[in-house]
This record gives sequence, C-alpha cells and structure tokens, in this order.
Amino acid sequence: MVRAKGGPLQIEDVELGEPRAEEVLVRTVASGICHTDIIVRDQVLPPGPPAILGHEGAGVVEAVGSQVHGLAPGDHVVLAPVSCSACRNCLRGHPMNCDSFTALNFGGRRADGSTAYRDSTGAELNAHFFGQSSFSNHVIVPQRGAVKVPTEAPLELLGPLGCGLQTGAGAVLSALAPPAGSSIVVFGAGGVGLAAVMAAVIAGCDPIIAVDLNASRLDTAVELGATHAVRAADDTVEQIQAITRGGADFALDAVGLPATLRQAVTALNIGGTAGLVGANAVGQEVSLDLMHLLFGRTVKGIVEGDTVPALFIPRLVELFLRGRFPFDKIIERYPFSEINTAIEDAETGRAIKPVVLY
Ligand SMILES: [Zn+2]
Ligand SMILES: [Zn+2]
Repeated sequence: MVRAKGGPLQIEDVELGEPRAEEVLVRTVASGICHTDIIVRDQVLPPGPPAILGHEGAGVVEAVGSQVHGLAPGDHVVLAPVSCSACRNCLRGHPMNCDSFTALNFGGRRADGSTAYRDSTGAELNAHFFGQSSFSNHVIVPQRGAVKVPTEAPLELLGPLGCGLQTGAGAVLSALAPPAGSSIVVFGAGGVGLAAVMAAVIAGCDPIIAVDLNASRLDTAVELGATHAVRAADDTVEQIQAITRGGADFALDAVGLPATLRQAVTALNIGGTAGLVGANAVGQEVSLDLMHLLFGRTVKGIVEGDTVPALFIPRLVELFLRGRFPFDKIIERYPFSEINTAIEDAETGRAIKPVVLY
C-alpha cells in the first residue's frame, strides 16, 4: 500500500468486502510491476494515497458473484484493464479506448464510487486500480477484468500479459498490424518494447530495429529476434534510415518522451506509421515537422495495445506455450516481501520485468 507520495510500499492487513453479483474474488498468485505503478506511487497520475496499486495480477478464482458467467472457483485468470462494455468504442471492439477508461482504471474506486478495501482502522482505501490492485494477495475484480487462461501455462509468470506485455505485443499485432516484410523500429527495450520486438517477429517484420541506451537490454532484444540493435545517440535517426534504406514503415515509441516520439516520427518512411504507448504526465507536448508529417505519415496513440484482452491474452498464452512469445526470458521473480526492491530494480534497469510472488 502507498501511504505517501514516492513510497515506499507498506505491507498491511486490509479488510476486503464480499464480491458483488458481477464480481469475482481472486487469490493472487503473482503480480508484475509496471512503470505505471511507479508513476502513480509518485503521484504523476491518480489515484492518490492511501492506495493499493498493482495491475498485472494473475491468480485463481475463489468465489464468483451470482451474475458471473463463464468463470468458476479454481479457474486460472489473468487480470486485465476494465472497460464499460457499453460506450461507442467498447461496442466497436476497442475497449482499451473506452470512454470511461480513466475513471474505471485510475479512479481508485468501483464505477459507483465505492471501495471493497478498508484498512485496519476501517478507513476506506483507494484500490480497484485497473480494476484489480494486484499488490494484494486477494482481490475483487469485475468479471470482465478476469480473463480465463489455460491451466497448463505457468500462472506465476502470466500477470504481465495483463498490461506491459499486451501493450507491446498488441501495439504491433493489433494496433499497427504491419504486413509481413515491413520494417519496424522499437524505441525502448524494456518489458513493453521487448514484447513489441517478439510480436514483430511473429508478424514477420524485417528488419526489426531495437533502440535503447542500455547495451544489455539491446542484447536481450537481439536474443528475442531484433535484427539490429541501435544504441540511442544523436545519430539514432540516421542509423535507422541507413538500415531501412530511407526510413521505417513502422515505429513504436515505448519510452513515452517527447524526444523519442519525435525521433520515431522522423525515422519513418513516407506513408509510415508511428505508435505511442509510453504513458507520461498529462500536458507533455511534442514538436513535429509539419511537412515531414504531411507526406502520408501517421502518429497513433495506443492504450494497452488496443486489444480486446479476453481474446488477446489467451492468444499470447498459446503463443508462449508454443515457444513463439518467450516472455519468460525477461521476467525476474521476487518474494512479495521484497516488493520495494523489485520496484527499485525496475527503476534502475537491473530487472526488465519484475514479478512478485505471494
Ligand atoms: Zn466503454
Ligand atoms: Zn501497466
């Protein structure tokens, strides 16, 4: 639990209510740590403290409400961002662009403003973070936030499929959808960027260029299928233009800084598309060359890979089981009691995708 801006996270006993008719009680087995947990801890984004964070949970269903269909106690689930299922974008099959996405995932409460979580003094806690707050060994989630996955997959590794990994993989396979043989450059070789690299291999992209400041992360990118690794420097765009003979068909900014998005767009070929997946504080601006953009180039903002989690997450599990999405290579395990170390290792780059085990 976060009690103060910047942390540390404290482990406390919490009172959990009963699941409502459309909710599910899940015993969390593990949770990934994502950049968004860190910037919410630091109050760059809401909800404010006291709050239970965590949004890459995986666990076992323990109880279901009376209106829950398709889930039963004992099912293995990956917890995913929630959507209203009724707005224009939800109905069009883009629930990660839900009109209520911010309220439902960053509101700290259920849609009706209530919370299922209280501390030992009875005080209400902000939780329901991304519908889950998975830094807790039991969570109450809406049924549409619990995605059933096959039991033969290692549940303790699957939590990051609910955010970081579906963000990177979905950005490529769902949002950008490059035709086979397209060139692609991925800025940032953290968990999101490396998931994008693995997805670009699945999509048949070539070349696949990874850009990062960190040499060991670039080695990992190459191990996972990047054809070229570029150490971020002043001539990054020129290097990409040389490799792609003019510019990339697709670019993905998994860093989320104005400078990297500008580079991603500048590195595009005529008619190319740049996707942005990195979250940052509200109000950040980017400058782009208008004439460069005019020549058929597209900039696309992508939340959570623009996936339908209930379809996409099981698909990623299948690809993992067949060895085609080997995300286990980027996961580092920690006991829950060492969650602050895990976060620190994510911040310093010592771990690419930390997962805490309960
Ligand atoms: Zn919606
Ligand atoms: Zn996340």
